[in-house]
Amino acid sequence: MLKQACLFCKIVGALAIIGALNWGLVGLLNVNVVERIFGEMTTVTRVIYGLVGLSGIALLVSYFTVCPACKKS
Ligand SMILES: [Zn+2]
Repeated sequence: MLKQACLFCKIVGALAIIGALNWGLVGLLNVNVVERIFGEMTTVTRVIYGLVGLSGIALLVSYFTVCPACKKS
């Protein structure tokens, strides 16, 4: 799905993967990579969390509709 995806789909997918990996590391190892790099609840950290959330919404929407940029679901 992501191999022939457009740039928008790739960015959304990458953000979702970053969020999933970070959350997985928090659960498994109690290590929050995003907060370790950018600080606990700093503006940058919050922007990253926000973008991860938005990519989640975009992926949710993509279950029901095709991507407007590449026309692939
Ligand atoms: Zn696309």
